[in-house]
Amino acid sequence: MAQPDCKKIFFENLSGAGKAIAVLTSGGDAQGMNAAVRAVVRMGIYVGAKVYFIREGYQGMVDGGDNIKEASWESVSSMLQVGGTVIGSARCKEFRTHEGRLKAAHNLVQRGITNLCVIGGDGSLTGANLFREEWSGLLGELVEQGLIDSDASQKYSALHIVGMVGSIDNDFCGTDMTIGTDSALHRIIEVVDAIMTTAQSHQRTFVLEVMGRHCGYLALVSALACGADWVLIPEMPPEDGWEKKMCQKLSANRAGMKRLNIIIVAEGAIDRNNKPITTDYVKNLVVKCLGFDTRVTILGHVQRGGTPSAFDRILASRMGVEAVLALLETTANTPACVVSLCGNQSVRLPLMECVQMTQEVQKAMDEKKFEDAVKLRGRSFENNLKTYKLLAHRKPESELPSSNFNVAVLNVGAPAAGMNAAVRSAVRVGISEGHKMFAVNDGFEGFYKGQIKEIKWADVGGWTGQGGSLLGTKRTLPAKHVDKIAEQMRKHNINALLIIGGFETCDRIKQSASGTKRRVFIIETMGGYCGYLASVGGLAAGADAAYIYEEPFDIRDLQANVEHLTEKMKTSIQRGLVLRNENSNENYTTDFIYQLYTEEGKGVFDCRKNVLGHMQQGGAPSPFDRNFGTKISAKAMQWISKKLVETFRQGRVFANTEDSCCLLGMRRRALVFQPVVQLKEETDFVHRIPQEQWWLKLRPLMKILAKYKTSYDVSDSGQLEHVVRNRSKESDASAAM
Ligand code: ADP
Repeated sequence: MAQPDCKKIFFENLSGAGKAIAVLTSGGDAQGMNAAVRAVVRMGIYVGAKVYFIREGYQGMVDGGDNIKEASWESVSSMLQVGGTVIGSARCKEFRTHEGRLKAAHNLVQRGITNLCVIGGDGSLTGANLFREEWSGLLGELVEQGLIDSDASQKYSALHIVGMVGSIDNDFCGTDMTIGTDSALHRIIEVVDAIMTTAQSHQRTFVLEVMGRHCGYLALVSALACGADWVLIPEMPPEDGWEKKMCQKLSANRAGMKRLNIIIVAEGAIDRNNKPITTDYVKNLVVKCLGFDTRVTILGHVQRGGTPSAFDRILASRMGVEAVLALLETTANTPACVVSLCGNQSVRLPLMECVQMTQEVQKAMDEKKFEDAVKLRGRSFENNLKTYKLLAHRKPESELPSSNFNVAVLNVGAPAAGMNAAVRSAVRVGISEGHKMFAVNDGFEGFYKGQIKEIKWADVGGWTGQGGSLLGTKRTLPAKHVDKIAEQMRKHNINALLIIGGFETCDRIKQSASGTKRRVFIIETMGGYCGYLASVGGLAAGADAAYIYEEPFDIRDLQANVEHLTEKMKTSIQRGLVLRNENSNENYTTDFIYQLYTEEGKGVFDCRKNVLGHMQQGGAPSPFDRNFGTKISAKAMQWISKKLVETFRQGRVFANTEDSCCLLGMRRRALVFQPVVQLKEETDFVHRIPQEQWWLKLRPLMKILAKYKTSYDVSDSGQLEHVVRNRSKESDASAAM
């Protein structure tokens, strides 16, 4: 297929020929580890290297034998959607000893392995780094003991290491997200959503314990995503006397028509004296002080279980590919690196710097320097904490500032999961800043018809978890009714508008095609002319092709894809998945492609087609969408407040500069306010898409992992960077979602 117009580097230049790479998973398991293993294996084979699995983590490396086996392309099939780690993980005491590492080195040298890809937590990565530092010494000992000859010792003199962080806790400094965190959040939110329905029925209080012995990320972000009443995390122990304050908040929330309370406690929650705060302690407190019917739920290993989320599959696939590239580019002098996510980009960071910084967080907590601990976790963590505090509790009326500004919020375009979280956040932040907030129903159509009224703090309670658009949304454009809209704005004295919506937006795609043989599934996705869902969904699902408008395709491409699938049916993977964006081509329709594949596949495979349709816009929002909606909207509202003050002169707001109408969005590593007039130049209005789509560069990954020969732009992937203290974790999980 045609490639995006960017600097291309053919992989032939980056050859892995003659190299052997081993991949292992170590420490606690995490969803998405399999996607990482698959990507390493396939990318490794793609560049011509030999790839080995090491089963059972470092234990397998120490024990050798059948634990270290060469991997084939097919051996990682059907792994992408499986939770846990198929190649096994373990904790290994022996690897902590010199003798253990000597055995491990012997096992690697015997197989000519000098490239190691470790997927695990900070413990596993520390072990890997130590192993690398000791490597030449270990080889010397092996020569002395007569276990290897000096030729081998010279040939394999350098060990290259790359790490990927697999940990559900998101406890590693240097990456916005670790593999498994998003899936764990999915599990937590599923449980919280379920618990909320029963708590609602009985007017109960639930105290929920989530994982995180040292890191409060899961607790904090799930509290944000479900609008919990109270959260306890190790990085920010509550002030002395918090018990009374918490009970006051709980009863105030109940008085405000709320029928339930949710308190989230991180496993490692402590008070200011480093004394653990247990769920039972919290429960007894609520029962004693308030007499509320209170239950404790401890989530435990559920959080590690289940299928990896689309985000984790994409993250892990991208990281796995990047890890192989890092190994190919490593020289004897490059320090061991870890592949990280920064904004929506993958970068390489020096492994030990990241490990040290991660350990400093713990040290800060041990020394009761809690503010430092929060800072060391990164700006995004801090921002999550700030946003949570801002939204969870209403200040008493008397403490609120009064800005005398009126701000209206509306949804436009198609409904998208996460819109309600964004509205809730805007309304609450706006009220906290002293504005009078107005809600417009049914988009611009409702606006010109006068469907606008004031909206209060309590009106948006419980909105984070709801799908669709509670305000109502329409695709009607404002142009025809501008006068009437202006009249409404005058009538209600609206000083600023926050518009949430846009061109085609929709969030979810799930499709399972496993379990059948000799069958190709052809799935049509939404998105108007935007091929994001088809492409990124394709990467998450391991698709064989994804047809999109942005990357034109012709009959030769279709033929190549059919032939590819015919070949694939000869292997042990007798299954195919093809995605087609709804507007990818007006003549090569989903029916056409289905019929073409059916005819050409006769006797080899049969086809099924499925148009996903509006189910993609439905359902409860994912934790990512809830949080992204919440945070981006809080940021937008704060920006509006600032602009209102800046442009207020003699009783009027002057909105006559370019930046008085901006779009807030993620660009590479940062959230950027971009004047809409500038966007105009970058937008293809006919097809309602940006002229440049950043995710196009992910498409070659999908093809490589599906065994097509293609070229891949490595120009902006991963050059080694240094960890800057408190480097902004500008946005979590922004990649691809
Ligand atoms: P995680 O990688 O999830 O943090 P652990 O800390 O349990 O989990 O580490 C997993 C394994 O990594 C350990 O069982 C051990 O084999 C190895 N390991 C951890 N720390 C070290 C170390 N300092 N030196 C050598 N090996 C280590």
